[in-house]
Amino acid sequence: MTSNAELNTRRQQAVPRGVSNSLMVYAERASNAEIWDVEGRRYIDFASGISVLNTGHLHPKVQAAIALQLQKFTHSCFQVTPYESYIALAEQLNALAPGATPKKTIFLTTGAEAVENAIKIARAYTRRPAVICFEDAFHGRTLLTLSLTSKTHPYKAGFEPFPGDIYRVPYGQPAALLEDTFQRVVAAESVAALIAEPVQGEGGFIVPPTGWLTEVADVCRKHGILLIADEVQTGFARTGKMFAIEHEGIEPDLMVTAKSLGGGLPLAAVTGTAEIMDHTGPGALGGTFGGNPMCCEAALAAIQAIENGGLCARASHLGELFRRRVLAWKDRFPIIRDVRGLGAMQAFELADAASTKALTKYCYEHGLILVTAGTYGNVVRILMPVIVTDDQMTEALDILESALTWVEVA
Ligand code: PMP
Repeated sequence: MTSNAELNTRRQQAVPRGVSNSLMVYAERASNAEIWDVEGRRYIDFASGISVLNTGHLHPKVQAAIALQLQKFTHSCFQVTPYESYIALAEQLNALAPGATPKKTIFLTTGAEAVENAIKIARAYTRRPAVICFEDAFHGRTLLTLSLTSKTHPYKAGFEPFPGDIYRVPYGQPAALLEDTFQRVVAAESVAALIAEPVQGEGGFIVPPTGWLTEVADVCRKHGILLIADEVQTGFARTGKMFAIEHEGIEPDLMVTAKSLGGGLPLAAVTGTAEIMDHTGPGALGGTFGGNPMCCEAALAAIQAIENGGLCARASHLGELFRRRVLAWKDRFPIIRDVRGLGAMQAFELADAASTKALTKYCYEHGLILVTAGTYGNVVRILMPVIVTDDQMTEALDILESALTWVEVA
């Protein structure tokens, strides 16, 4: 049997340090909300591959859809020999995207690639150069998206210079601040787009005040600035709605999705109003793997699983289950500084990064996989697969509670 230690030694020889690992255990197989390492140990997976597995590991419908496509073909490149699943999935996303304006969708492979495409489309449509983004935002690790991402270490430091005409403003602050920015920093008529996460993910699960995004959307509309909703982490039932921006009832001009879109396979999309999406000429957008047929079939099955399984309601329920426990902990464990989240996108903030690291280590050593977040690395993210059972939820929260007891006395 291969051991975790053996794989770790090989990993250190073969893979650069720049790609870090949260855990020192190696996955062997997984099912729903559970994952087993190469030594046969079982874990409850509250990381969901960083918000990719809202429908769980190997959802039977997703697995069947991939297996069926595997009998047909794995790749043809949509730009060369197109196929139906790409169109069917575009139709689905166009119908699901908030707002009544007719929509169109292009598929890419990663969240960062989709963000880049959204910026390209916005610049082409508005013929303006600048982009506004937010403090504590995360939009990816490619050079353009790194310039939109906020956190310096470990993401940005050493990779300068970044592309220009990117302007950063505080998140969740009164929208009047934007008008001020147009006076003091960049002219409104130079701004192509404003990109916002409806709930900030990597930044620490920051939920903006109710009504804030609506105000921001109004300011954008007034100045002809396109609003790009980055739903990469918040999409597909995670926050209790199909897309988090639905909590505000606004229609973004462009919406970027990835992560849970593909039900575990790599797929990303830009969905936007048809007028904007059609502005660039043939050949201006695309990529070899974007909208791979295996991924499109998996995504169609995953969306069906979300709708048929009532996963939006389930996400809200899971959020409540968590909050009930964590709010009681907040009184017992002074190390918890804040509790926040929306639906099944929940988090609590600890006093510092060291105790956060210690807590997640304790958890995985006791069978629960968690990831951290936050500009200061002191936020524990709760990103359970939305299909997690109530029993698994209780088991995971019991581990977390004993971890808090342990960290508090340590
Ligand atoms: N946007 C958001 C909001 C994200 O959370 C992420 C990934 N954490 C990205 C974009 C980038 O996605 P990817 O890692 O697939 O490039």
